[in-house]
Amino acid sequence: MSTKKDIRALTKEQLRDFFVANGDKAFRGNQVYEWLWQKSAHSFDVMTNLSKETREMLAHNFVINHIKVDVMQRSSDGTIKNAVRLHDDLVVESVLIPTSTRTTACVSSQVGCSLDCRFCATARLKRMRNLNPDEIYDQVVAIDNESRLYFDRPLSNIVFMGMGEPLMNYNNVLKAIDKITSPEGLGMSPKRIIVSTSGVPKMIKKMADDNVKFKLAVSLHSAVDEIRTSIMPFNATFSLTDLREALQYWYEKTKSRITYEYVVWKGINDTQKDADALVAFCRFAPSKVNLIEYNPIDDGTFQQAAQKAISMYTETLERNNIVVTVRRSRGKDIDAACGQLANKS
Ligand code: SF4
Repeated sequence: MSTKKDIRALTKEQLRDFFVANGDKAFRGNQVYEWLWQKSAHSFDVMTNLSKETREMLAHNFVINHIKVDVMQRSSDGTIKNAVRLHDDLVVESVLIPTSTRTTACVSSQVGCSLDCRFCATARLKRMRNLNPDEIYDQVVAIDNESRLYFDRPLSNIVFMGMGEPLMNYNNVLKAIDKITSPEGLGMSPKRIIVSTSGVPKMIKKMADDNVKFKLAVSLHSAVDEIRTSIMPFNATFSLTDLREALQYWYEKTKSRITYEYVVWKGINDTQKDADALVAFCRFAPSKVNLIEYNPIDDGTFQQAAQKAISMYTETLERNNIVVTVRRSRGKDIDAACGQLANKS
């Protein structure tokens, strides 16, 4: 592994200062910055508007720790899963989900995960490290390229729903989103980005204070503390009361509706009482519910609830004027569906 500094850890100002300190013009820093972010250069050699000497000087001082798509798998439904190798040989996964009108990238924010959701394959990989902003950015660029190549259109949406808890890597996720939305990066609208969290109250409040413009989704899965703690043990620390209070704070500050991601499992949260608790939770701030189809990951402890239970949920939510969508999973045949990312490819 190289000991040289990753050039993408430098801000534009720092790059400009570097060139001045080396007897060159500050605008050289702007040129390099454009190559690194807007043009996603993976090598100094391609920076053809710089002299050979400048390129050699950069290569002498820095590296570009870009990702590499090691394995790309395509599902029969069009979904693509990338196994992405990082500069230190660790691997994360990201997914391209195409529909007739949009292409969504589901990206990872950590290698493994420090949380321990019982139904999630990623939870079995211990958290090894946080991803750097450029590693998150690169996943998006890779999927944008695939979208153009295979679907003839650019990437339209991004969800932070891959490996890891994005709010446990908040600063880097924010820096990556800054680059993704900046005209000097990919220039995407923040409204097309959803950060999906299992619910870290303190960080939800911080996001609200930081006046972020992207959307928020919460993997709720139960609005009953006892049940939520049994399937998402960290709920014992971040209780539903704290979560609810943080979400109210979020809405007051941002006026941005919250999406609850929710899986209905057989024998776990499939009763009318569970649906009523969800309705009560939804009342605290404007929200919508995505009921997500479950993808079994092991011996069958968690099983998708019967259609009758899903219908009971949708009827209960609709009766209470809460917008609900039933989401079918994509990419199941390549282990790319929600909760299945575990570096198996
Ligand atoms: S569901 Fe998300 S937060 Fe929970 S263990 Fe899996 S990756 Fe981590």
